[in-house]
Amino acid sequence: MRGMSDAQRAELAAAVERLAWQAVREMLGLEEAAEPGPDLPDADQRQIWLAALTSLLAIRDSAEQLAASAALSAAQRGADYPAIGDAAGMTRQGARRKWPGLAGLSDARQRKLAWWDARRDQFLQCARAVLATAGEGPRTDEIRKRLDEIEQAAPDHRVDAYDMALVDAHAIAADTGPPADPAGEVARGLLAALTADAYAAMNNHSPLVLGEKLACGTDDCAVEPIVKLWCPDFGYRVVHACREHAVAALKQPATRIVAAYQPDVALLVFAEAQDDD
Ligand SMILES: [Zn+2]
Repeated sequence: MRGMSDAQRAELAAAVERLAWQAVREMLGLEEAAEPGPDLPDADQRQIWLAALTSLLAIRDSAEQLAASAALSAAQRGADYPAIGDAAGMTRQGARRKWPGLAGLSDARQRKLAWWDARRDQFLQCARAVLATAGEGPRTDEIRKRLDEIEQAAPDHRVDAYDMALVDAHAIAADTGPPADPAGEVARGLLAALTADAYAAMNNHSPLVLGEKLACGTDDCAVEPIVKLWCPDFGYRVVHACREHAVAALKQPATRIVAAYQPDVALLVFAEAQDDD
């Protein structure tokens, strides 16, 4: 990919000028062909040029915002700072100063897409099973709409829908409400586990990364916790739990996994708790 030709730049400058004069005419309520000609009194010309100044700087501000958004979108799709700097006509350090925080976005996006590739069908099926027992209401309608969006969206446009779906899933999975039938309870627990795994895969929630020293919250257990649970047995407090204690706690009704500290552990622990029955 190589830059813009002089002819293209000239064309762009002319288009910006046309846009600015159109804005001036709208701001001042002038006729279509009006321009600051020499036959106008100085006071009128002054007003026109001041309006032109306002509209040109508004165009520049809009372009700056659009440029920041373009840099972000490019970074999410794998552009690094040298490439962004090159496209912006600046050094990579200059690009980093102007738009900080763009490094590594592509990795995060790839991790997210990879998780959804592997788990999308299971997630959708599970969320619909939970909704089937959740009754009707504006909120559940909203979530159903969101799930439809995920199924219909083109792969490239799904990421935002995924983010919203996880927020919804977290809320409905954590909502214990009136006791559902056993199948509904399993679906809610599974949806909670899936959501915890999704966040763990995307955000690096591990205590190592967070720099926290966590302990299993059960019976002075010394084993390192791998999930965070919300359970009635502990007075509806959130507790950290090692694998063994998590499996034991998940056998109680209305217990949910609310976070996982390693990739893919929530589903495993949940399945183990189901299996032993
Ligand atoms: Zn333990």
